[in-house]
Amino acid sequence: MNMFKTLNPSKFLLNALDDLGFVKPTPIQEEAFPVIVSGKNVVGIAQTGTGKTLAYMLPILQSMKYTTDKNPTVLVMVPTRELVQQVVEQIALYSKYVTVRTIGVYGGTNINTQALTLKDGVDILVATPGRLYDMVIARMISLKSVKKLVIDEVDVMLDLGFIFQLTNIFELLPERRQNIMFSATMTEDVDLLIKDFFYDPIQISIAVSGTPLENIAQVSYEIPNFYSKVNLLEYLLDDAKEFSKVLIFAPTKKMADRLQEAMLEHFGPELGIIHSNKTQNTRNAAIENFNNGQNRILIATDVIARGLDLDKISHVINFDTPKFPENYMHRIGRTGRAEEMGKTILLFSEKELPAKEAIETLMGQEIAIFPLPEEVVISKKLIPEEMPQQVNIVSGHSLTGENAPGPAFHDKSAKNSKVNLGSRYKREIVLKYKKPLTRGDKNQNRRKK
Ligand code: AMP
Repeated sequence: MNMFKTLNPSKFLLNALDDLGFVKPTPIQEEAFPVIVSGKNVVGIAQTGTGKTLAYMLPILQSMKYTTDKNPTVLVMVPTRELVQQVVEQIALYSKYVTVRTIGVYGGTNINTQALTLKDGVDILVATPGRLYDMVIARMISLKSVKKLVIDEVDVMLDLGFIFQLTNIFELLPERRQNIMFSATMTEDVDLLIKDFFYDPIQISIAVSGTPLENIAQVSYEIPNFYSKVNLLEYLLDDAKEFSKVLIFAPTKKMADRLQEAMLEHFGPELGIIHSNKTQNTRNAAIENFNNGQNRILIATDVIARGLDLDKISHVINFDTPKFPENYMHRIGRTGRAEEMGKTILLFSEKELPAKEAIETLMGQEIAIFPLPEEVVISKKLIPEEMPQQVNIVSGHSLTGENAPGPAFHDKSAKNSKVNLGSRYKREIVLKYKKPLTRGDKNQNRRKK
């Protein structure tokens, strides 16, 4: 029996799956199907290769009703044109015996030619955000009938700077709709987007790692702050024979830069760095130098590390404890292969202890804590984020170190007031990216491409 039958898909869909030789749903497909069919908002954490496209398309195709509407009822947004093509191809296979019109639009091709493909109507529109926004503004597409919105690879989308297009498109969509979002990693930006736009989503996550957990030796050190962590790394990584190829994860681009700065004097040319603010040439050089052994140590952020083809990593070091346990799984999956044990080290402060415990719960195993080597100096120097909060008596707002009044100020005031959440999001994004945002400003979006 085809195991997909347990999900009870229509016979048309089942026949298409049979034709493809798909006999068993993947874990994300099994979990996502009933939740998406129920119409709830969903956030799925899953990487490419887990079958996530079918995970959202199968329930969507299942719930689709015949309509004479020429406008799309399902909108799928993905970050790149290759993905548009790939998703369109996959939908064509899954909907072989169902009457749906699926069309993909993306930048880099003639917009008028693409508009022509839509003239006979479309049910499922797959699009990159930039081109979609341009077409909507030019009235080539109307989003007024969209009932289901899928955003795939949302972490990549935010990393590519698509936030302005996304928030603008959200404003043009009907309020009553189902939101389905997939991301391989959770980042602060993704979390913020979910909180502000996706009412009460159900989270589905598949704790994948490239390597079975048994093949990875995991240890941790409790250590109080940034500069003490740097001291520990310098102490450990001085043993170049043991730590022959080290990938260090930092939580943000800013922290990655800061870490590089702090470690540069000690490790000099052995140290490389990669994140999405670096130019393509710098990124390519960082990968090459790490792979050919010129750089023994590479600092990376979560999102960028995903697509990297890195081999034979001796150690993965978590400079921070990821807030979202799935990110830890992705990180440690970069080390360890069948024939060789991978090694991973987690650095956590007291504040990060709950995050460590969440990871342990997800894995169903504890991470051993090693005593700090005596030689490691505990630093008293703090980075701005670690400085104690001062209370401004006059205004009552809390101010943080040299950054005050930074994003925390906005967080606090927004929590205490009942303002439109979308605008808080925009304010924060504008603060962060220092870019003006107006609804119809096409040049704004052009610049971002
Ligand atoms: P995705 O994670 O969506 O990129 O899917 C990865 C690949 O797995 C695609 O080529 C799908 O055709 C294939 N696939 C998805 N679900 C299944 C399944 N249940 N059984 C076999 N192959 C699948």
